[in-house]
Amino acid sequence: TTKLAGKVAFINGGSRGIGAATARRLAAEGAKVVIGYGASAIAAEALVGEIEAAGGTAWAIKADAANATELSNAVNAAADRFGRLDILVNNAGVLHLGPVDQFSLEDFDRTLAINVRAVFVASKAAVAHMKDGGRIINIGSTNAQRMPFQGGAAYAMSKSALVGLVKGMARDLGPRNITVNNVAPGPIDTEMNPAESDFATVMHGLMALPRHGKAEEVAGMVAYLAGPEAGFVTGADLLIDGGFAA
Ligand code: NDP
Repeated sequence: TTKLAGKVAFINGGSRGIGAATARRLAAEGAKVVIGYGASAIAAEALVGEIEAAGGTAWAIKADAANATELSNAVNAAADRFGRLDILVNNAGVLHLGPVDQFSLEDFDRTLAINVRAVFVASKAAVAHMKDGGRIINIGSTNAQRMPFQGGAAYAMSKSALVGLVKGMARDLGPRNITVNNVAPGPIDTEMNPAESDFATVMHGLMALPRHGKAEEVAGMVAYLAGPEAGFVTGADLLIDGGFAA
């Protein structure tokens, strides 16, 4: 389809997993996609090649989400290169697990920097370029609603922060007709959360649909929010979690 023809999308953390699936999907719907990466330059460049081979337009740029200057410069560079910016997907995320009495302050700060602060930084840079109809889409987590195992306090905190952030940002940007939402996945089969593990089996026991989701399923919800049909959705935290939080 060409639902997103003429649009430019920046994917913060687009090199692997859910971010890469989102880049592929938005490109398939006609958007020009800019893939921000942290550590995975080779994967990001390979994804650009794959999207261009399929007839799309893509560009990769280093944008360490923990580095506010580098991240906002990358968002500005994307808008400069393609002359506009319509869609921001904040996907970059880290999962540091550990009980509170052993959890390091470094891991706590890194969780906040990448999962929360970078969302604010990239959004602030992006809205300087966005026009009427702009879209900000964050990858949150069902763990903002339910944290049913040990060791996930900092991660759940970071994803809960995004629930409040989108509500407030939706109010700020509503007058400009820019929508701001979270997609909140349950267990999705990626390097962060492989479908084959003992932990996976434990999680399936908590779900209405006892399986991992696919990155492509999450990308489908992101594409919906990015598209014209979702113009009335804002400030929302949309679960796609197999009933994990039900
Ligand atoms: P992966 O670990 O497979 O991929 C993580 C992505 O985030 C990579 O593209 C990585 O890029 C990027 N990233 C991490 N740190 C940085 C950084 N400092 N700067 C730029 N990019 C960074 O994870 P998933 O695809 O599973 O997760 C994507 C998002 O979805 C995360 O926000 C995660 O919290 C969320 N999520 C995942 C779930 C799951 O079960 N998988 C469930 C719910 C939410 P690079 O390698 O280039 O640094």
